[in-house]
Amino acid sequence: MASGTLHIDLGAIAANWRALDAASGPGTQTGAVVKADAYGLGAGTVARALADAGARRFFVAQAEEGVAVRKALGAGPQISVFSGHMDGDTPLIAEHDLTPMLNSVDQLSRHLEALPDQPFGIQLDTGMNRLGMERAEWAAVAEIALSRKPVLLMSHLACADEPDHPANARQLAEFHALTDGTNVPRSLSATGGILLGPDYHFDLTRPGVGLYGGLPFENALEAVRLSLPVVQTRTVEPGEGVGYGCSWVAERTSLVATVSGGYADGLHRALSNKIDLWAGDVPCPVVGRVSMDLITVDVTDLPEVPPALDVLGPHQGVDAVAEAAGTIGYEILTSLGPRYARRYAGGRG
Ligand SMILES: *Cc1c(COP(=O)(O)O)cnc(C)c1O
Repeated sequence: MASGTLHIDLGAIAANWRALDAASGPGTQTGAVVKADAYGLGAGTVARALADAGARRFFVAQAEEGVAVRKALGAGPQISVFSGHMDGDTPLIAEHDLTPMLNSVDQLSRHLEALPDQPFGIQLDTGMNRLGMERAEWAAVAEIALSRKPVLLMSHLACADEPDHPANARQLAEFHALTDGTNVPRSLSATGGILLGPDYHFDLTRPGVGLYGGLPFENALEAVRLSLPVVQTRTVEPGEGVGYGCSWVAERTSLVATVSGGYADGLHRALSNKIDLWAGDVPCPVVGRVSMDLITVDVTDLPEVPPALDVLGPHQGVDAVAEAAGTIGYEILTSLGPRYARRYAGGRG
């Protein structure tokens, strides 16, 4: 089989959830964000593992994702939808008991007309200018909305991964101004906001990337190992080039392994000649361009070439690969493609 194997450690994900839960006080509930197929790791399986760890409130970006999570979890846990109540969502919300986070007066009207008895939350914009009602809009509808008993008032921080950024305090103050005295449960923080401290915790937090081993949660356990099978090896003589554009030229007689996996699998072309693949504890440099399905690796110094080399693992996490690719761990995780076999350990699977 040429497909790579993505080993997903559900025990590490559960431990990361518990650690982020412990980072806030007993008055703060910890939710779990499983949008984008749980950041590429498999929403159903991951959500079940997090429910086993104690999570009761899940967040997705779109109603369709909520349906998949509901099917995995069954009745009980609350599943909230960040994009709110979109045109066409009504049957999904009703049949699968989803909780839309309403973002505008239009969404509020749509929801109250279509599903007056279905729980909802309100998303407020406190300065990110992406989702949610702004101050004036909220002022116009707050009385009506609050009379219908929303289950949550939430907002999202734009700069929480930069603790000293002045936008954090500004957004916190705006969130207080918009929600103090409402007596409705409140949520402001994702992974980064949890790490900003108790002022940012309110009643519920919404960690995502930290569960999956990514920054800004520096103490996260790595949750993924990605192994790519070696398709063939060859000897390359000094002066010979490897891969498209011959961007790497051998300076010594080299043994080059071609492994299965490439930019179509989320291993960005920008990683060409930049990272190592690992044979256990031994780094082997990527040589030449990453192509759509294949990567070439200098394995000259290995005593023996193993059947597969790791691109993600204990020596090189998603953020290290992200930095080499000029992006963030979130994008590496959510780009991990459908061709990998996903193998789960440490949970019900
Ligand atoms: C994605 C997202 C989260 C989770 O953010 P992380 O940085 O991955 O913890 C929380 N809330 C909202 C509104 C989001 O869009």
